[in-house]
Amino acid sequence: MRLSHYFMPILRDDPKEAEIVSHKLMLRCGMIRQEAAGSYSWLPMGFRVLKKIEQIVREEQDRAGAIEVLMPTIQPADLWRKSGRYDAYGKEMLRIKDRHDRDMLYGPTNEEMITDIFRQGVQSYKDLPRNLYHIQWKFRDEVRPRFGVMRGREFLMKDAYSFDVSREAGQHSYNKMFVSYLRTFARMGLKAVPMRAETGPIGGEDSHEFLILAETGESGVYFDRDFFDMDWSAFDIDYDDVAAVVKVVDDFTSKYAATDEKHDPAEFEKRVSESHRLAGRGIEVGHIFFFGTKYSEPLGCEVQGPDGKKVPVHSGSYGIGVSRLVGGIIEASHDAAGIIWPEPVAPFKVGLINLKVGDADTDAACLNIYKALEGKGVEVLYDDRDDRPGAKFAVMDLIGLPYQVIVGPRGLKEDKIEIKNRKTGARKTITVQEAGDYRNISDFIEY
Ligand code: ATP
Ligand code: MG
Repeated sequence: MRLSHYFMPILRDDPKEAEIVSHKLMLRCGMIRQEAAGSYSWLPMGFRVLKKIEQIVREEQDRAGAIEVLMPTIQPADLWRKSGRYDAYGKEMLRIKDRHDRDMLYGPTNEEMITDIFRQGVQSYKDLPRNLYHIQWKFRDEVRPRFGVMRGREFLMKDAYSFDVSREAGQHSYNKMFVSYLRTFARMGLKAVPMRAETGPIGGEDSHEFLILAETGESGVYFDRDFFDMDWSAFDIDYDDVAAVVKVVDDFTSKYAATDEKHDPAEFEKRVSESHRLAGRGIEVGHIFFFGTKYSEPLGCEVQGPDGKKVPVHSGSYGIGVSRLVGGIIEASHDAAGIIWPEPVAPFKVGLINLKVGDADTDAACLNIYKALEGKGVEVLYDDRDDRPGAKFAVMDLIGLPYQVIVGPRGLKEDKIEIKNRKTGARKTITVQEAGDYRNISDFIEY
C-alpha cells in the first residue's frame, strides 16, 4: 500500500477525550473514529489489525475442534423469555421493536440462540461432543463505556458454546478451550494469565478469566510471580489426549492468580511466599464458563443417551474480546514514540520510507523493494509522500510496524539501505537486492 493513496488520518496531538494510552494511540494513528458513546468506525489501519486478531482466534478455535457459524446480531425476545434472562439482563440489553410490534434485541451474547440451533440439529449422544462458535458484533448498553474499544457498547466478540453428554466430557471441552486460549493469546505476543473467576449473572460451575497485565486494566489482580517463568509456548498438544490437556490446565491453575472479586488475602499469603506476591491491574481479554446443565434444563436441550433415555446436555460458553484485544495489545506493547505491533497482528509487516521523493534513483530503488516484497506476499506500507524525513520517521514509529526499511540518496550511492527493528531499535544496513527478500529484513534480529 502506498501511503499517498491510503486513508490514515494521523492526529498530531493527543486527543483530549482519551484517558489511556491505547485509546490515544488508536485515535492518533487514525485506526478508529468514535460514532457514538462506545461505538466506533474501524478505519483501514484499525480494521487490518482487527482482522488479524480475528483470524488468529479463528485458527485456534478451529484447531481445538470448534466449528464456525454466524448468528444474527438482532434476536427475537421470545428465546430469552424462555430462559428467563429477558428481564434478568436489565438495562444493558438494547431492546428494539420491529414494525409488527414484536420484541427484538441486539444480542449481548448468544447462549439462548445457539442452544436452540443445537437442539434442532442434534438428537443423539452419538453426535456429541460439539462446539459451535461465531465471531460477531455484540451490543451491551454499558453504564460507562470508556477507554475506546476496551469498553465499548458495540464490540466484536468470539463466543463458542460446547455441548457434551456428560459432566466429564463437558470438562474436557472446557479444558480444551482453556488451552486454546493460552495458545491464542500467546500467538499475539501476550501472556494472558488465567484466573479463577466469579460466574456472575451468566452463572454455572466453573469459570476462568484470562487477563493481560496493564496498569490501565479495570480489574485488580493478585498472582504468583512464578507465572512469568512458565513456558508460554508449550501448548502444542493433541487436543484429544485428555491427560495432556489436563496437564496444561493443571500447570496453569496450580499457582495463585485471582481478580479482586475472587481474591482471598489469607490464601494468597499461605500459598505464595512474600517475595513472589504480585499485585497489579489487568485487562480481561477472555472468559470461559462451564455451566453443567444450567441452561440445557430450562431450554429443554436434551439428547438421547446410550440407554435410550433423554439426558440434558452439559454445556459451556467461551468468550474472547476481539475488538478489546486491539486496545489490549497496545497497552501491553508501546513506548513513548508509539505502538509496537507484535508481528502476527501488525497491520503491515514493513514500513518502507522514501527519504527523497522525486529523486529518480531513490524512487526507483523504493519501487523495486516495494514490488519485490509485495510480490512475495509481504504487506508493505510505502511512505511515498513528499515530506521531511523527521516527520516520516515519527509517523512510522507512531504506527509501530515491526520493521522499517529506510531508503535515501546518500546510502544508495554505496548500495546501502538501512533497516530498523521498531521494537529493539536495532539497525543494520543491507543492499537494495537484499531488501527485496523479507528474510533479510525480519531475520536480522530476534524479534
Ligand atoms: P467485563 O467484566 O469486562 O464487563 P464481561 O465479563 O461482562 O466483561 P463476558 O461476557 O465474559 O464479558 O464477555 C467475553 C469477553 O468479551 C470479555 O472477556 C471481554 O474481553 C469482552 N468484552 C466484554 N464486554 C466488553 C465491552 N463492553 N467492550 C469490549 N469488549 C468486551
Ligand atoms: Mg467476563
